[in-house]
Amino acid sequence: MNLVQDIADAHPELIGWRRTLHAMPETGFEEFRTADFVDAKLKEFGIETKRGMATTGVVGTLSAGSSGKTIALRSELDAINLQEANDFAHRSTVDGKMHGCGHDGHMTMLLAAARHLARTRDFDGTVHFIFQPAEEVGNGGLRMIEDGLFEAIRPEAVYGMHNFPGIPVGQFATRPGDFMASLDAFDITIEGVGGHGAYPSKARTPILPACAIVSALNEHVASQIPSEETMSLSVAQLNAGSAINVIPASANIKGTVRSLGEAAQLEMEAAVERIAKGICGAYGVDCTVSYQRTYPRLVNAARETASAIDAAAAVVGADNVDSNGKPMMASEDFAWMLREKPGNYIAIGNGIGDKGGTFVHHPKYDFNDDILPIGASYWVSLVRRLL
Ligand SMILES: [Zn+2]
Ligand SMILES: [Zn+2]
Repeated sequence: MNLVQDIADAHPELIGWRRTLHAMPETGFEEFRTADFVDAKLKEFGIETKRGMATTGVVGTLSAGSSGKTIALRSELDAINLQEANDFAHRSTVDGKMHGCGHDGHMTMLLAAARHLARTRDFDGTVHFIFQPAEEVGNGGLRMIEDGLFEAIRPEAVYGMHNFPGIPVGQFATRPGDFMASLDAFDITIEGVGGHGAYPSKARTPILPACAIVSALNEHVASQIPSEETMSLSVAQLNAGSAINVIPASANIKGTVRSLGEAAQLEMEAAVERIAKGICGAYGVDCTVSYQRTYPRLVNAARETASAIDAAAAVVGADNVDSNGKPMMASEDFAWMLREKPGNYIAIGNGIGDKGGTFVHHPKYDFNDDILPIGASYWVSLVRRLL
C-alpha cells in the first residue's frame, strides 16, 4: 500500500473527525452543523469556500502553480432517516437519523486530501472540493447545478467515490460506461365503480385490472427488454379498498423501474402507460398514469475512468483495482453531475466480514475507519495525476 505519509500519520485524528460527524447526522438540506464543520476545516487549511448552493452546499477552492487546469472532487453531507442500532460511543445522538451510508467517512477522506494538498501545493491547477447536501433524498446534486454550481466553478471533470461493504479493504472497483442504474417512478390510479360486495356485476372493480397490470408489467420486463440490457421493475405498493364487503371505486399501483441501458428505459417508459391504459380499456375502467424519471443512469467517461483507475492503482496496486466493476442497480445523485461534466465514480472497499461488511442503509452499518487514509490517498493521487 502506497499511502500519502502525512495522511497515514494523521489517521487517529481523521478517525476523530469521522466519529464526530457520525454522532451528529443531519438529513437533506438541513446539514447546517455538518456544513459548518466542513467549512471551518477548509478555512483552517487555508482554502477559500463558497456556501449556500442548494441551501447547505459547501465548495472549497484551492489553486497552485499557473496552469488553468481545473477538476472537482465531490463528497456528500447528508445522513439518512434511520434509527441506528449500534451502541458504540460514537453512535448517532439524533433519534431516527444516522450516517448509514458512510457519508461521514466520505467527508473525512475529502477533507484529509484537501488539507494535504493545501499544505504541499504540489500540483499545477485548481481543485474544487464539492460537499453536496441531500444525496439520499432530494437530488441535492441537481439542486446545486440549478443554483449555478458549474457557472461558479468550471471544472473540466468531476470525480466521486463511495464506500462499498462487500469489497475488501484496499480494493477499488469502477468501470467506463454505465455503472449505476437510472431510477424512474410510476404511479397508476385506476378509477372503477364501487359497490356492494354482494352485487359485483353492478360495480366495476378496479382490483382485477390492477392485478392484470402488475402481472403484465413484470411479464413485459421478461419478454420485451433486450437481454443485453438490465432492468429491474418493482411494484412496491398496491392499494385498494378498506372493507371486506365493499367493492372499492379506485385502486393505486406504485413502483420503480431501474435500468442500465438507454433502450430498456425508453421501452419501459412507453410500456407502462400503454399496458395500464390498454388493460383498463379492456376492463372498461379509467386510469391515470404518471411516469417520472428521478435519477439518470450514472455513466463514467472513458478517459476520466482510466485516470481514476491509474490513481487508485498507484495507491493499492493494479491487482487491487477492478477496472470492469459490476454495474449496480442502485442509483446515485452524482449521476446529475456526470451528465454535465465528464468524470468518474469509483467504489472503495469498506471491507468484508464483521468489520465493514454490513451493507449501507442497515441500522448496524458503520463506515470502516481503516479505509480513511486509503480513500484520502486516492484523492491526492488523482489530483497529482491530473494537475
Ligand atoms: Zn445511501
Ligand atoms: Zn451514499
